[in-house]
Amino acid sequence: MAKAKGHVPVRMCVSCRRRRPKRELLRIVRTPEGFVIDRTGKRPGRGAYVCPDTPTCWEEKRLRRFAGGSAARLALELQAVLGGEVRDGEGAHLPTGQGTGDGERGAHGAPGHDGGGV
Ligand SMILES: [Zn+2]
Repeated sequence: MAKAKGHVPVRMCVSCRRRRPKRELLRIVRTPEGFVIDRTGKRPGRGAYVCPDTPTCWEEKRLRRFAGGSAARLALELQAVLGGEVRDGEGAHLPTGQGTGDGERGAHGAPGHDGGGV
């Protein structure tokens, strides 16, 4: 039973498949040249989302389901863009903005196997 929560747009992370408010996620846009990390959220194109604060969501093997052969490159880009920032303390420019304190920060399931196979 999902609770309706006003009109906060919610998106699903392509890696861990958690649903989170869109503003807490990082948008990725698929272009003819590959995937582009869209920090402004305004690029045209088909968007997908990952958790910017969860390094396991940037792993190639998890991205592969979504990005296929481009997963390795996308993983590197995410790590380059996000890895540095997170390490830097308070992530600077992510569009997370104001705390919408909804109590959705439950225990983060351990990154166990999820059908990765081979
Ligand atoms: Zn995620």
